[in-house]
Amino acid sequence: MVHLPVYLDYNATTPCDPAVVEAMLPYFSQKPGNAASHTHAYGWEAREAVELAREQVASLLHCEAGEIIFTSGATESINLALKGVFELYARKGNHVITSNAEHKAVLDCCAELERRGAEVTYLPVNSQGLIDPQQLEAALRPHTILVSILYANNETGVIQPIRQLAGLTRQKGVLFMTDATQAMGKIPLDVQEEEIDLLAFSAHKLYGPKGSGGLYLRRKSPRVRLYPQMHGGGHEKGFRSGTLNVPGIVGLGAACVQCMEQMEADSRRLRQWRDAMEKKLMASGNVQRNGHPDKRLPHVSNLAFRQVSGTALMSALSSDLAVSSGSACTSARPEPSHVLMAMGLDEELARASLRISLGRMTTQEEVEYATEKIIRTLPALQRTHITET
Ligand SMILES: *Cc1c(COP(=O)(O)O)cnc(C)c1O
Repeated sequence: MVHLPVYLDYNATTPCDPAVVEAMLPYFSQKPGNAASHTHAYGWEAREAVELAREQVASLLHCEAGEIIFTSGATESINLALKGVFELYARKGNHVITSNAEHKAVLDCCAELERRGAEVTYLPVNSQGLIDPQQLEAALRPHTILVSILYANNETGVIQPIRQLAGLTRQKGVLFMTDATQAMGKIPLDVQEEEIDLLAFSAHKLYGPKGSGGLYLRRKSPRVRLYPQMHGGGHEKGFRSGTLNVPGIVGLGAACVQCMEQMEADSRRLRQWRDAMEKKLMASGNVQRNGHPDKRLPHVSNLAFRQVSGTALMSALSSDLAVSSGSACTSARPEPSHVLMAMGLDEELARASLRISLGRMTTQEEVEYATEKIIRTLPALQRTHITET
């Protein structure tokens, strides 16, 4: 029997891998040192654990340990990167390029930069969720200081042509940043080969703990500089002051090791189950896939259910399935997903969309249960929807 509700919301957050919890435990009590205490063994022990984690993170990204700054998560990393670069490169220019299908952390940060005098260009995505590299090329100007593009979309899983976008940006001598929160640990990343200058990530999206994450900051050719957003003590080379979250950092490092070992097998297994599920759901009629069929993460499915009300769909499923809907409930009145709207869906279809995201702990039985549950639920919803309108 499957445990209800079935958790299929791994893009929202992942459970910790058991190996991660085991690695973290000693740092809550037996090894309580502050990594900044350099006068005794407790501090050294904590420092060593943090530096090991830095190397573990770096090897997943193919960078050097000294290029990783630990933060409280991707939102903080994105704030540090965007605001920090904007402040430090103010003399070079005030133009920033991003897309209109970014995570809210980037969009809200860009809105703040606009209040501070930035000029921001929002590149569109096509109906499959992809950015056209030619449009980026046309948008680059002499006073552009930063391009920030989401690596893999959290709602659709769509993967942007990062190598190409970063290459074009590098040619113009502009910094390229990516929010790789959903991609890291799920697909191979290489900041050298892909010419990425800044990269934001979070532990709790890759089977690590919440409240821990980091920022990759390129150290040579070019050396990226940024203005710190948190002052007090000069931790993390002065880029991010504040006592290090040692258990969280140890957990992040351990999570990266697990991802390195399991990424390939996880992807192969989850892709197979995801594809089988999509095939069945799409064959049941009136279901369309949101996002490019291949250029996307292997464990994510975003589907639009025609002639169904989004709220009715969610309330029919939510006791048995933990999935996300095509509307963001951050406010009192749920807004249809800006990502799906950017891809050209109308408001109603965006609301009647589901994001189903599988993960390492997902079983085939769970995916099959979810598939059957949705197929059995749909006809009644479609009937009531038709009589309503
Ligand atoms: C979850 C997520 C974030 C925010 O990460 P936190 O660590 O929770 O702050 C940013 N970007 C993307 C794409 C995400 O999926």
